[in-house]
Amino acid sequence: MTNGSPLIRLVHVTREFKTPAGVIKAVDDVSLDLDRGEAICLVGESGCGKTTTGRLLAGLLRPTSGELLFEGNDVWRSRGADQVRFRRAVQLVHQDPYASLNPVRTVEQVLAAPLRHHRKAQTAKQARAAARSLLQRVGLTPPDDFLHKFPHQLSGGQRQRVSIARALTVDPRVIVADEAVSMVDVSIRITLLDLLLGLRDEFGVSIVLITHDLAVARYFGRAGRIAVMYLGRVVELSATQELIDDPAHPYATALIGAIPEADPDLTRSKQRLPLKSADVPSLLRLPPGCSFHPRCPRAEAGLCDVLVPALTPIGGTRSVACHVAVRERTALAAATGPFRFDLPWVDIDKSEGSAG
Ligand code: SF4
Repeated sequence: MTNGSPLIRLVHVTREFKTPAGVIKAVDDVSLDLDRGEAICLVGESGCGKTTTGRLLAGLLRPTSGELLFEGNDVWRSRGADQVRFRRAVQLVHQDPYASLNPVRTVEQVLAAPLRHHRKAQTAKQARAAARSLLQRVGLTPPDDFLHKFPHQLSGGQRQRVSIARALTVDPRVIVADEAVSMVDVSIRITLLDLLLGLRDEFGVSIVLITHDLAVARYFGRAGRIAVMYLGRVVELSATQELIDDPAHPYATALIGAIPEADPDLTRSKQRLPLKSADVPSLLRLPPGCSFHPRCPRAEAGLCDVLVPALTPIGGTRSVACHVAVRERTALAAATGPFRFDLPWVDIDKSEGSAG
């Protein structure tokens, strides 16, 4: 392990699936680094590859090509103790805690099994004490009220807290939370997001939150980064606040313009980037060039429908996969000095080179 290197990395990872209709690339040439104690959100529409990316990061899917590195070691080439260390270090919290918790096991049994298996507790008494402590940590108090309950006796938010407690049994370094708050009431979401952020602050756990909801990502990732995905690729990667204030990629711009605000007047007055089409192309028949071009109001014929845009740094920690945004941001940086992008919205109608 190299000090200062990312904790976990996807390096040019592609993952294909065979379907009866043909081979699809659910994830296409994705590179992503995660540092210790970092929070990152993977955001995008259904089918964008965010869940597959999360499962690749958790080592649950083997890349078709590319590498998953943990502390600099290739996970899929490691054996023995290194592999066990990775399996413990990276834990997945599923979207549906009801499906992921064994319905015939009590909370105590759910937590005791990994504690005993990984030798965190030698006896039933030690396992119970550790389970109590974990329940307290995830806000299920008093813990004795929960130890003997079955999953169906808990609310959705409580079940998700048990799932998080189970992930904590092995002292993880990374938690991949896949739509972990999408099935709970809105009022509970914030407390679960705060719980995950508290784990990051208290224990330095790195968190990957996968969500289709940019409002959730905005809250969760306020001190972290967002990776916006579209049809298997990362199209923009940026510090959260920068992306919210000044999205560079047209797809990110459209998503942010569509976030409803609590104040309806604010929502109505937001500038939006209307897309040419609401239809997302099939992964079986991806458009040539930039796969967003059939929907993109900024697409340029002869460029966007021919060349695939690479994820390109545009300053600071930001990267974008868009020919037009890279050209404009580079020109802007040259005119105003490096990386001062203080225009909150690009006026599509007046911008040069835009095409319908
Ligand atoms: Fe739109 Fe072209 Fe940028 Fe793709 S590369 S997002 S089509 S402007």
